[in-house]
Amino acid sequence: MTQTAYSNELRADTATILIPLIAGVTALATLMGALAFESFSLSWHLWLGTGLTLVAGGVGRHFLKQNREVAGTVIFTAAHLLIFYLIILKNWSPGSMFPYLFAVLIIASSMFTQPDSGFITWGIASFLTALGVSQHITGSMSLAQHIAGPIIVNLFVAAAAYFSALEWQVAVESVSQLHIKAQHRRDELFTIQEELRRTNAKLINVNKALEKARETAVAERDLRTRFMNQVSHELRTPINSIVNFAHILSQGQLGEVTSRQIDYLNRIEKSGWHSMSVLNDLLDLAQMNAGEFRLRRQRVDLEAVCEEAMASVRSLLENEDVDLIRDYPEVWPEVMVDPKRFQQALLNLLSNAAKYTDKGHIKLRVRTHQHTATFAVEDTGIGIPEEHYDTVFQEFRQLDETIARKRIGTGLGLPISRHLIEQHGGTLTVHSVVEQGSTFTITLPLADNEEAEEEETPPKRLKMTAVAPEESI
Ligand code: ADP
Repeated sequence: MTQTAYSNELRADTATILIPLIAGVTALATLMGALAFESFSLSWHLWLGTGLTLVAGGVGRHFLKQNREVAGTVIFTAAHLLIFYLIILKNWSPGSMFPYLFAVLIIASSMFTQPDSGFITWGIASFLTALGVSQHITGSMSLAQHIAGPIIVNLFVAAAAYFSALEWQVAVESVSQLHIKAQHRRDELFTIQEELRRTNAKLINVNKALEKARETAVAERDLRTRFMNQVSHELRTPINSIVNFAHILSQGQLGEVTSRQIDYLNRIEKSGWHSMSVLNDLLDLAQMNAGEFRLRRQRVDLEAVCEEAMASVRSLLENEDVDLIRDYPEVWPEVMVDPKRFQQALLNLLSNAAKYTDKGHIKLRVRTHQHTATFAVEDTGIGIPEEHYDTVFQEFRQLDETIARKRIGTGLGLPISRHLIEQHGGTLTVHSVVEQGSTFTITLPLADNEEAEEEETPPKRLKMTAVAPEESI
């Protein structure tokens, strides 16, 4: 709605209320006046006035309802001008107040249509006053003397009505501006609401699709888990048999075996154990990739865990020139770990150190700090170039194929170890100098005093990039 349309509507609303009111008051006044006269010949114009004012009021209101404000107010004003003229014509006497009645019409017309309409009504009213009063002028009475008063007063009324109508118009316009702004806001809000409704509908669809995808993923995961369990069972059983039978045979439990046969049987047993550990690594990796790897963290005897790992690595060390050094604290830190998995990570680091160190030492240094505990595995082996610090933690990555082949490995130990440590809320980092040695450091948060004695860590997905197994740097 435009501003003018809105102010016109407000005018029409005012007129709709005031027109019947003025018409009613006039009808009542003329009716009472008519009744005061004894004969109809003296009061016919008042009876006519009563009828006319009722008709004009009704017609005026009807036109207003049909949005024909100008026609409605013109009919109403014209009828009243005529009635007031008739009253002046018939009942005026010197000093009569009747000509002042026009003031009502002057005010009403400037309010109902344009502010300056009051002046037009004043002009017509002045003319009618002069015409009506002139019929009563006799003898020495001067027309000007009698009409000057009402005409001037009515002019003042017209001017006052003009200014107040102007003021009213300004007020109406500012109100209508606010009204229009409010309407715009409402439209904007409506658009936003629509948009929200549409987005919400989309969100519901996306949620449904997600739910479906989740169900499919869960089904696939179950299938994969079943497959993994079956494959691991199928492989573990024969490998176990191979290892055990080779062991029994090498022990001479089933008859004499030559030293050459013993050597071959030992090799079969060793390869069997290696295959088993590779199979275990692959299964761990598959579980991590599927986000199904859970930890059972508890307060453990860390010294015992470390010692067990050190004992295992001792048997791996073929070279007697490598010293195994323990650098333990007096008071052991308290950390919550899954003993089996923490030892797996530690053993990976220690056996790597054993694999890549020919002389010098391998040291396990345990320290307690303010909020953390560190477990550093230091060796004096071949070292790792700085640009490969990240690469060694990627799946299936081995730095030197020839060395790696010689020292059997899969390139899975470090990525699995890092994932295990990160699942404990810790970090695994490396610092190394080529030809001088490497230090792999596990950092774990100290256990909280309030922490439970045992808790299960929810599984997390492995966040690594896989590389084809054949690829090596
Ligand atoms: P792998 O089974 O081959 O040892 P890892 O993931 O444990 O697999 O190690 C990845 C690569 O990182 C190794 O192939 C080796 O090149 C390098 N690496 C790991 N530990 C050491 C170390 N202590 N000294 C030198 N190189 C190492």
